[in-house]
Amino acid sequence: MIKGSCACGRVRYETKTQPLAVTACHCITCQRVSGGPFLGFAGFLASAVEWTQKPDIWLASDIAERGFCKSCGSPVSMRYFLEADRIGVTLGTVVEAEPVLPSVEAHIFLKDKAQYYVLAADGAKRYDEFSGEFRDKLEQWGRRRQKG
Ligand SMILES: [Zn+2]
Ligand SMILES: [Zn+2]
Repeated sequence: MIKGSCACGRVRYETKTQPLAVTACHCITCQRVSGGPFLGFAGFLASAVEWTQKPDIWLASDIAERGFCKSCGSPVSMRYFLEADRIGVTLGTVVEAEPVLPSVEAHIFLKDKAQYYVLAADGAKRYDEFSGEFRDKLEQWGRRRQKG
């Protein structure tokens, strides 16, 4: 059971499943949005997450939508259009997790990593951009979309 909330408590969610992935994204947009060196996400099947109040949506790019709370500004979620059945919720919004969340398993977009931030030797996978597998999927998705 995982329960989450934005800073002011307006946007809330709950899930009974464990995350499919726990990732830290160091891209520029995640730095700006978080006000910190990276933004962490726990990924779930979108259907497994119940919202008492859905987040507001910002389209930072044409490949994904970002959820946030318009009252307090907290970044809450991210969903890639090519995997619309999945959603990542930001780790900082997790209020309760039983069992505890698994550790971060991958750092992505390290090409943008803030110079002031020293990445610990945490054993997680490291990628300059997306993981290779996800980038292949994204390229195929982009090509399909151009055709049609
Ligand atoms: Zn809020
Ligand atoms: Zn990012």
